[in-house]
Amino acid sequence: MLADKYSCTGCAACFDACKFSSINMEYEEGFLYPLIDKTKCTKCMLCTKVCPILNKQNFNNDNIQKTYISWNKNKKQRKRSSSGGLFPAFSKYFIDNGGIVIGAGYDENMHLKHKWTDNQNGLKCFSGSKYLQSDTKGIYFQTKQFLDKGKLVFFSGVPCQILGLFSYLGNNYDNLFACEVFCHGVPSPEIFKDYISYLEKDGNKIIGFDFRSKILTWSKPCVKLSYKGRLPKYTLFSMCNFITWFGLHLSVRESCFNCPCRTLKRNADLSIGDFWGIEDVDASLKRRNGISALIINSKKGDFLFEQISENLFFKKCTLNQIIKKNKWLIANYDHPIEREKFFHTWKEQGITGLIKRYPSAKISSKLINRLKSFIQ
Ligand SMILES: Cc1cc2nc3c(=O)[nH]c(=O)nc-3n(C[C@H](O)[C@H](O)[C@H](O)COP(=O)(O)OP(=O)(O)OC[C@H]3O[C@@H](n4cnc5c(N)ncnc54)[C@H](O)[C@@H]3O)c2cc1C
Ligand code: SF4
Ligand code: SF4
Ligand code: SF4
Repeated sequence: MLADKYSCTGCAACFDACKFSSINMEYEEGFLYPLIDKTKCTKCMLCTKVCPILNKQNFNNDNIQKTYISWNKNKKQRKRSSSGGLFPAFSKYFIDNGGIVIGAGYDENMHLKHKWTDNQNGLKCFSGSKYLQSDTKGIYFQTKQFLDKGKLVFFSGVPCQILGLFSYLGNNYDNLFACEVFCHGVPSPEIFKDYISYLEKDGNKIIGFDFRSKILTWSKPCVKLSYKGRLPKYTLFSMCNFITWFGLHLSVRESCFNCPCRTLKRNADLSIGDFWGIEDVDASLKRRNGISALIINSKKGDFLFEQISENLFFKKCTLNQIIKKNKWLIANYDHPIEREKFFHTWKEQGITGLIKRYPSAKISSKLINRLKSFIQ
C-alpha cells in the first residue's frame, strides 16, 4: 500500500525503487501517481520503505541556519534566472569541478522532466521556475549511479523531490549536495500540456514558456512565449490564465495542501527563493534584476557558499524577514472549495471551459488580492 492521493507528492521514489518494474506512474487530475501492477508485484515492500510519506525521516542533523539576501554578480545569469540567479552560480562550481548538475528542464515536446548535465551549455534549460510538476521518473536511480562512481552531484528540485531523493538513497553521500527552491505548490502538468495546445491553435508552434520573464522588472513578472520563426509574445502575470489558476490554488496537486516540507527544519543543504518584501528590509537595494533569499541548512551548504561567495552579492538577514512575505515556506494554505469543480470543468470542457469559467481578467477583486499576495 503506497501513500494515498491526498498525501502522495508524486516524487516517484517508489517507482525508481521497484526492481520488478511493477509500478506504473499514471495520470490523475493531470498529475503522476504510482499504480502497482499486482500481476508483477513480489510484495518485497521496497517501495513502501522508500516512500517519504509512509516513513517520515529527518535527513539533516546539522544544527545550522544561516540566512542571506543575495544575488549572482554575473548579470547575464541573474537575468536569465527567476530570482537572483543563485542556482546558476552554485551549478557553475560543480561543472568547473567535473561534477553533475540535476534540475528541471523541458524536453522537445515541452514536457518538464528532471535531467542531468555535466557541462555549462546543458545548464541553460534549468534556468527559470517552471510552475508545473516535473517528471522525476528514473532520476533517483541515475543520481545513485553517479554518486556510487564518486562523482560530485548537485541535485535541485522542489522540497518534496529532495525528500524523495534522500528517502530513495537511504543515506546521505558526502559527494551529494542538495538545493531546494522554496515551493508554493505545483500545478498540473497535463493542464499545462492542454494549455500549450490551446495557445498553439493559431498555428504557431511554442518552443519556450518562460513563467518569469524580467522584461519589465523582477517584481512585475511576465510570461514569455517563444515561437518557432516568430517574435516572442509577452503576457502580464495577472492576464495569464495558467498563472491565475495557480495563484488561486485551483490547479495545484492535492499533496500541496498538506505539504510534508513546510517546516523550519529543512532537508536540503541550501534553500533558495525570491526575496519578496525586500523593500521593507533594505530599500536601497536595486531590485530590477532579481533578489534571492538564501537559507544555508548544513555544513555542506556552508562549504559550498564559501567556495562561490566571491561571485555573489550577499548580506545577512533574519529568517523572519524571509518568511514575512513567503509564509508558504512554513504554513499550509486552505483547499479552495472550487477545486473539484475546476478539475471537473477541465475534464468535461477542456481549456476553453476553464477559461470561460475562471477567466484571468474578470476575476473578482478578492481573487486579485490573493494573486498579489502570491507574487509579492
Ligand atoms: C513550482 C515552484 C514554486 C515556487 N514557489 C515559490 C514561492 O512561493 N516563493 C518563492 O520565493 N520562490 C518560489 N519558487 C522558487 C523561485 O521561483 C526560484 O525558482 C528560485 O528562487 C531559484 O531561482 P534562481 O534565480 O536562483 O535560479 P533559476 O535559474 O531560476 O533556477 C531555477 C531552479 O529551479 C528548478 N526548477 C524550476 N522549475 C522546477 C520545477 N517545476 N520543479 C522542480 N524544480 C524546478 C531548476 O531545476 C533550477 O534549479 C518556486 C519555484 C517553483 C519551481
Ligand atoms: S512491493 Fe516490491 S515488487 Fe511490489 S511494487 Fe513494491 S517494490 Fe515493486
Ligand atoms: S514514494 Fe513518492 S510517489 Fe511513491 S507513494 Fe510515496 S510520495 Fe507517492
Ligand atoms: S508544495 Fe510541497 S508537496 Fe507540493 S510540490 Fe511543493 S514541496 Fe511538493
